[in-house]
Amino acid sequence: MRAMHAGGSDGQTIYILGVIVVFFRLLPTGNGFPIIGEHETEIPDPGKVENANAPKKVYTSSMFEHWSKATWKAPTWSYQDPAAWATLPSSSCGGDQQSPIDIFPISSVTKAYPKFTFHNYGNFDRMNVLNNGHTVVYSLAADTPIDRIPYITGGGLDDRYEFHSFHLHWGSDSSKGSEHLIRSQSYPAELHLVHYNTKYGTFAEATTHPDGLAVLGIFLKVGLVDNEFFQPLVDQLSQIPVDQQETILDKIVSFQNLLPQKTTSFFRYSGSLTTPNCNEIVTWTVFENPIRVSERQLNKFRSLKDAANEQLVNNYRPAQQLKGRTIYYRRFHGCELKESWPVTSTPLWDVLTWGQCLVNYALSWP
Ligand SMILES: [Zn+2]
Repeated sequence: MRAMHAGGSDGQTIYILGVIVVFFRLLPTGNGFPIIGEHETEIPDPGKVENANAPKKVYTSSMFEHWSKATWKAPTWSYQDPAAWATLPSSSCGGDQQSPIDIFPISSVTKAYPKFTFHNYGNFDRMNVLNNGHTVVYSLAADTPIDRIPYITGGGLDDRYEFHSFHLHWGSDSSKGSEHLIRSQSYPAELHLVHYNTKYGTFAEATTHPDGLAVLGIFLKVGLVDNEFFQPLVDQLSQIPVDQQETILDKIVSFQNLLPQKTTSFFRYSGSLTTPNCNEIVTWTVFENPIRVSERQLNKFRSLKDAANEQLVNNYRPAQQLKGRTIYYRRFHGCELKESWPVTSTPLWDVLTWGQCLVNYALSWP
């Protein structure tokens, strides 16, 4: 054998190399078939939002890079068969702290969390939007100054969580679409604002820790008129009808106005990303009060196409078992003080605010 190799001519070597190249060219790709010489780096999946800014894959070998980038697809998953997610490589989808869940307020534990503070929840222009085949991901322009990036504190979170991106889940019609359920009832859609714990430095690092992410879940309800603050998210969806298309928003997005009018009532529990690998790293906040959008606005999302070029709808994971977890409930329908009562620097203002609030509360009583 040794003699044969040693005696091989240049022509023979080229022939063998040619056979190897042809062999790899003929290997099936695009269905998760492993290719020799490639190892994808683990890029954690934050509710399928990680693709917004990060490169899709990192290859350790440049040998096949030039062509495999175009043909490589990660092991696929779909909303057709969420039960199969647990069998995916390095999946946590069969774990004990999975999301979403069905929330029953009556069996949740009331807890006096402080209010949330939303920092830099202002206006942002030139947001990036990506159709990633599973949802639409919105992220800030890459040149957003660090001191303008939104972040949240309070709300019972121990740390400061910086905004990463947001995305939505929706149904083929308005009878379904949200991931979380309230008393087993769906909303037509759910918005997820993904934030990461700044004590871990980077988003990628945060996704390797149990307290790495804080996701705010906001239900969308159908109203009769368009939501003007939601319209910038909808306007350019026709530019990204197909998987992996992206664009930049022309209009300004007001973060403050994507939140419900009242963020004082919410549910809190420990859970996971709702897409593979379902990492159990999310402190969930699900606001009780929804925002309103129109059917027309939701239909814009329903007209997108997924990775299989099918209609991108019903991209929600079914509710997962609670498995002994406690759901906490910050229940506040009344009035809030800026500072803690009775020590306050604005007593007159507080009395007026409380008075107005109590009147409103009395009027809204069923
Ligand atoms: Zn989500």
